[in-house]
Amino acid sequence: LPGAALECPQTEDIAGLLPRPSAESDKYRRGVLAMAVGSDRYRGAAVLAVGGAMRTGVGMVRYAGSEGVVTEVLNRWPEAVSSVLDPMDPLSGLPARVAAWVVGPGRGLHPMAQAELETVLDSARPALADADAITLVSKNPRLVRERSAPTLLTPHAGELARLLPDTEREEVEARRLSYAARAADEYGCTILLKGSTTVVAEPGHPAIANPTGSALLATAGSGDVLSGVIGAFLASGAAPREAAMCGAYVHGLAARLAHDGAPISASDLFDALPAALAEVR
Ligand code: AMP
Ligand code: MG
Repeated sequence: LPGAALECPQTEDIAGLLPRPSAESDKYRRGVLAMAVGSDRYRGAAVLAVGGAMRTGVGMVRYAGSEGVVTEVLNRWPEAVSSVLDPMDPLSGLPARVAAWVVGPGRGLHPMAQAELETVLDSARPALADADAITLVSKNPRLVRERSAPTLLTPHAGELARLLPDTEREEVEARRLSYAARAADEYGCTILLKGSTTVVAEPGHPAIANPTGSALLATAGSGDVLSGVIGAFLASGAAPREAAMCGAYVHGLAARLAHDGAPISASDLFDALPAALAEVR
């Protein structure tokens, strides 16, 4: 990519950005992450994304979803402050003291998901949009382009192709850095393009390549965990570019630590995330 700078973070760079709770911390100051993820059809996405945030360290996760998913989330993560959504008024019961949002994984494309996404993107808080939320954004780019608060989109190659006109997944795979930068310019936001080497692009900044990636992560649900991991960094006050960089780094490291020779699945990342964070510190 002619003239483009590319940074590759070292462990020290990540360590310098990790939030460090202090005597003055309380759960609100450490950051409240609101999560609109999962649905009756994809309950696991909610459990995985909430778990990614919990195990990265967050003051509080506020979860909102249908009754069935709330039950599922609370069974696995009783500390998630959860509310059942009113289908007629999505997200009305939520956001007190929210520092950042994660929206999209397993959430669906139906009108309620669309209305909810608009509510989130109308807010003045940093927001990570992934998966179904990316598909919805691709149909209405103004939702992101006209935001004043920071937005981070975390597409894989197929989702990034959807974000740009007349673009195929294969083209994105062949020129990942270039397409990530193009989407970042087009949407005026931060883009984390997932894949064998995850890259982060933001207008006006050098691109970042994550050095810890592992093909072990190429398994269903690991992207949902990543959204929660990055969400935790966002809620702690990290800027989207730094949150994306730290998130990809510890997510990749967690996969390597969880791997003892046998394959891993996405929920194996839960126990490995604290170990990865400890290794970075
Ligand atoms: P998703 O596509 O949302 O399921 O997310 C998949 C996760 O696995 C992302 O964190 C990707 O960066 C990661 N991943 C997928 N394929 C590979 C690969 N071949 N090598 C390394 N990481 C991968
Ligand atoms: Mg995904």
